[in-house]
Amino acid sequence: MKILVINCGSSSLKYQVIDMDTKNPIAKGLVERIGLSGAVLTHSLTAGKKNIIKTEIPSHVTAIELVLKALVSPEYGALKDLSEIYAVGHRVVHGGEKFANSVVVDDAVMAALKECIELAPLHNPPNIAGIKACQKMMPTTPQVAVFDTAFHQTMKPESYIYGLPYEYYENYGIRKYGFHGTSHKYVSQRAAVLLKKPLQELKLISCHLGNGASISAIRGGRSIDTSMGFTPLDGLMMGTRSGALDPAIVTYIMCRERFSCEQVNDFLNSKCGALGVSGVSSDFRDIEVAAEQGNSRAQLALDIFAHDVKQFIGSYAAVLGGVDAVIFTAGVGENASHMREVICRNMDYLGIHLDVEKNKVRGEEVDVSKPNARCRVLVIPTNEELMIALDTLELTQKKSLQ
Ligand code: ADP
Repeated sequence: MKILVINCGSSSLKYQVIDMDTKNPIAKGLVERIGLSGAVLTHSLTAGKKNIIKTEIPSHVTAIELVLKALVSPEYGALKDLSEIYAVGHRVVHGGEKFANSVVVDDAVMAALKECIELAPLHNPPNIAGIKACQKMMPTTPQVAVFDTAFHQTMKPESYIYGLPYEYYENYGIRKYGFHGTSHKYVSQRAAVLLKKPLQELKLISCHLGNGASISAIRGGRSIDTSMGFTPLDGLMMGTRSGALDPAIVTYIMCRERFSCEQVNDFLNSKCGALGVSGVSSDFRDIEVAAEQGNSRAQLALDIFAHDVKQFIGSYAAVLGGVDAVIFTAGVGENASHMREVICRNMDYLGIHLDVEKNKVRGEEVDVSKPNARCRVLVIPTNEELMIALDTLELTQKKSLQ
């Protein structure tokens, strides 16, 4: 059984076809520059064949058309016929408070998705465009929406309500939503397998450290707190995002720089974080190299990041009342062994004892703690596509039994 997973951005589209018997992708690809000049589709088969198509791609509908064509191409396709695709799973960034779980898309769901646009004006419209394009091209194939926010809908009000007049929550929906939910959910489930314990019994802290970074406190498989907030700008300092600031800094910068709302938003999202502090790059590999060469601002960016992560681990251990395992995932979490080592230093009080040798791994699923450590440290490569495919399969099989 095969599931197509689609992740639509404003000008890009990533896709994978996953064989659910083996849980591995059989084809994947990326469409770039949708609606712009120089659009390109790069399609590759896991078996090795690769094809690059450069053509006009004015809309998401054209992009999906091209992807489907590539998937059934006799030369470089992965499928004989599109009917082999059992269902399509779509990543949707914001589900607001309407969606605490993935859903099969119908008219009512589509209407609710449109109501969530206000909360994610840049992200949700392309996600919706991707669903509509697939509905058009594959009218009888079920479409499922999987939300970045859904996993965090289990948080309690004391975690998600801000210190603002309550009407701002009621009228504008201002609250903590949290993101990267698909990744936090996936790695927490894998952690239970790795630890050979029921997820229901575990207290976990999951650190998704990539370009965007967030940390979640997970008790019994449910998110009880997370570091991103109303938007993905909150929490840790990230590649280009500031992370949490004294809110008065925002208006102060607006006055000093005469920034409009749009300009300050763009500034905080794309010119700050590790890039702004180091002045080198937003890429942690570049920053590590610069720090090794003696660049003190690059070193400062790394120190701030490690400090932020440590701070969240400490505070979530307090919120959880103890912690069975800390999980590291995403680009930095999976690969940057030195960063993991620095974060885990002086955490003996939580029972964290990193095995420095085991910790030298990159991108493998492994327990990197010393044998007697009370709190395990796990490196678990995330797989958001597989999580989307698993949800999609479960929901569509349920629906076909009804
Ligand atoms: P996103 O999906 O949020 O764009 P990723 O999860 O792919 O991001 O993570 C990208 C980040 O991971 C980049 O900052 C990159 O430098 C970092 N990264 C990848 N490999 C390494 C490595 N070997 N050492 C340090 N950082 C790494």
